[in-house]
Amino acid sequence: MSDSVALSFSGHKALCRAEVSMLPRYNAGLSEDEVRRRYNLTTIVKLGSNENPYGPSPQVKAGWAGLADRLGRYPDAGAALLRHDIARAHMTEVERVLVGNGSEQIIRLIAEAYLSSGDRVVTVRPAFGLHEIYPRMMGAEVDAVPVTAEATFDQAALLAAVKKPLKILMFSNPSNPVGCMMTGADLSELIEACPQDALIVVDEAYREYAEEDPNYPDARALLEKQGRPWIILRTFSKAYGLAALRIGYALTSSEEVASVLDTVRDPFNTNMPAQIAASAALADVAYMKDCIRKGIAERERMAKALRELGFFVAPAWTNFVFVRTTQGAAQLADALLERGIIIKPWKEPGFENWVRISIGLPEENDTVLHALADLSL
Ligand SMILES: *Cc1c(COP(=O)(O)O)cnc(C)c1O
Repeated sequence: MSDSVALSFSGHKALCRAEVSMLPRYNAGLSEDEVRRRYNLTTIVKLGSNENPYGPSPQVKAGWAGLADRLGRYPDAGAALLRHDIARAHMTEVERVLVGNGSEQIIRLIAEAYLSSGDRVVTVRPAFGLHEIYPRMMGAEVDAVPVTAEATFDQAALLAAVKKPLKILMFSNPSNPVGCMMTGADLSELIEACPQDALIVVDEAYREYAEEDPNYPDARALLEKQGRPWIILRTFSKAYGLAALRIGYALTSSEEVASVLDTVRDPFNTNMPAQIAASAALADVAYMKDCIRKGIAERERMAKALRELGFFVAPAWTNFVFVRTTQGAAQLADALLERGIIIKPWKEPGFENWVRISIGLPEENDTVLHALADLSL
């Protein structure tokens, strides 16, 4: 995966596992502080990480009252209150819910608990980097099925890919970075085509942005019907605006799956402020939905304006758009960076001309549009 630079361990290489020495690095992008320092700028427009520009519900601050006085104590290792709140919101058993230090950590736990050298994992390309990096860290082979030329999931190619033996099928729906959505009919067909003993992981980091569409599947209901192992990943980092706190969760097919992940989990993997904030955010659905509504309206405005500037914009069900440029993505991203605008240039083979632009506040989106219009003159 070229989202990244292979490590050069030189003389040290022999000491670490071969899988680690060859592992690509996750491209986490630059922070606001780093861009400010590097270019000596004051205002930064950060549209590289798909955050909610409106931030979390005001209920989070209220939930933190008195928190400073409790910081001397360890958090609840089992995150019991939060897991109960999640279980209630999803009408599932608390034993089937696992929380992680970001859903990223849960992807890592899945890889550590289920994958050994030589196992096969099927995902998509372009992909969320960690769907590929963590399996490879464990020595698994990753088969990444490219999206179609129209930037949609390639159902025929996916069906073919899951007919061969595989341990895990893992992808995000809607997709990061493409933004495309797999319908219920396609998801059903894909699940049925998978070997019965394969683990299916559907990463729903952007579910809240897609679920208004009647074609967006209730993956859990579809999976439940099949009586096979599955994990659905959700996060508080996107729609709920809590990216800084690192908290996400997994809904699982059974207590057994949750318990397997729990065995490899660090005991105090989520911190006290994050547990409290997540519960408070979950209780304020109205606030979240309002952010979604504004975000979707802005996304549609951005997509239209970008198309008018001559770019191909993939249809999106997310809080970002994936855009094909005529020049190299890295060059374009660098030119924007000099103006204090952070976007994400894609680096996977075949997608080096694509950039992902998160949807920000209306004025931030205008800044991007003006800069792009300027640059393409
Ligand atoms: C952002 C993102 C995550 C990471 O979420 P955290 O909970 O912040 O770790 C996971 N999967 C996908 C597809 C994402 O885009």
